[in-house]
Amino acid sequence: MMNRYSRQIILQNIGEEGQEKLLKSSAAIVGCGALGTVAANNLARAGVGKISIIDRDFVELNNLQRQMLFDEADVGAPKAMAAAQKIKDINSQIDVEPVVKDLNHTNVEDILKGVDVVLDGTDNIQTRMLINDVCVKEGTPWIYTGAIGTSGMTMNILPDKACLRCLYPVTPKIGSLPTCDTMGVLNTITVIMGSMESTEALKILLDNNKQGTDSSLLVYDAWNNSFDDVIVRKNDECECCVKGNYGYLDTEDREVITSLCGRNAIQITPADPKEISLAEMASKLEPLGKVKSTDFILIFKTEKEEISLFKDGRAIIKGTNDEKVARSLYARYIGT
Ligand SMILES: [Zn+2]
Repeated sequence: MMNRYSRQIILQNIGEEGQEKLLKSSAAIVGCGALGTVAANNLARAGVGKISIIDRDFVELNNLQRQMLFDEADVGAPKAMAAAQKIKDINSQIDVEPVVKDLNHTNVEDILKGVDVVLDGTDNIQTRMLINDVCVKEGTPWIYTGAIGTSGMTMNILPDKACLRCLYPVTPKIGSLPTCDTMGVLNTITVIMGSMESTEALKILLDNNKQGTDSSLLVYDAWNNSFDDVIVRKNDECECCVKGNYGYLDTEDREVITSLCGRNAIQITPADPKEISLAEMASKLEPLGKVKSTDFILIFKTEKEEISLFKDGRAIIKGTNDEKVARSLYARYIGT
């Protein structure tokens, strides 16, 4: 079985002992888009023993330009499921767990519990702050990574060192940052950044992460070939890693409504997610419009609207940026 890994076992940095350690390790990849597919592919081939892939979305044709685990046949499938299937084909000896859920304050602690390292494949600062809160609280190392346009950045966030809130004490407002949907992204930068964070994950899992007391934010621009290493010091006043205020984890019993910016869509996650029978829902909706449904997702289209409904009751409502409109469509077609 070790023959599969022979080319990395002969690496001094890994060796047989390191390989055994990797096989006993676990990693969670939050977001399975451009960065997440690259990280999942790398870690699976390297033999990280247990990989969970968390993603709320499904594959669209415009994802194929950069999301390296998907092909045309996957369009319409939940990303976490499609990625897990590919990973199983690549390495059947490791455990892969797809999680088709929106990571939010109601479930993040459960989903990331006990993993050895968390990799950032998300596309928004809110989810990153949520990961930061839970990882700092639990003492789990995580790797902040982002890419947009032709550049990207990555920073290891390790227990007792600077955290993401040391770097961004004030969270940028929703809609104030550019997104890949509005600004575009080069597919080589996401492969590079996804590989950089995979390398950091391997180093962390192998306890081979030699950094001083400060953390560094690596910033790379693939078009200009510029590479910067910015020192990030721990902020003595940090609400998260110094004062222990984990505000992003505060749970209230409410549904979560997220605007998927740049996509003219709103996501609704019920406060109390329960399993929905998509087959029953399909027969209920068929008289009202076009319905396409699989075991994991139901897509319902009327002339104006499109609703994608997942098994846990979460829905993405396309064609509107208005929360109230989305809420009322949800209530009208899915129920409360
Ligand atoms: Zn901090």
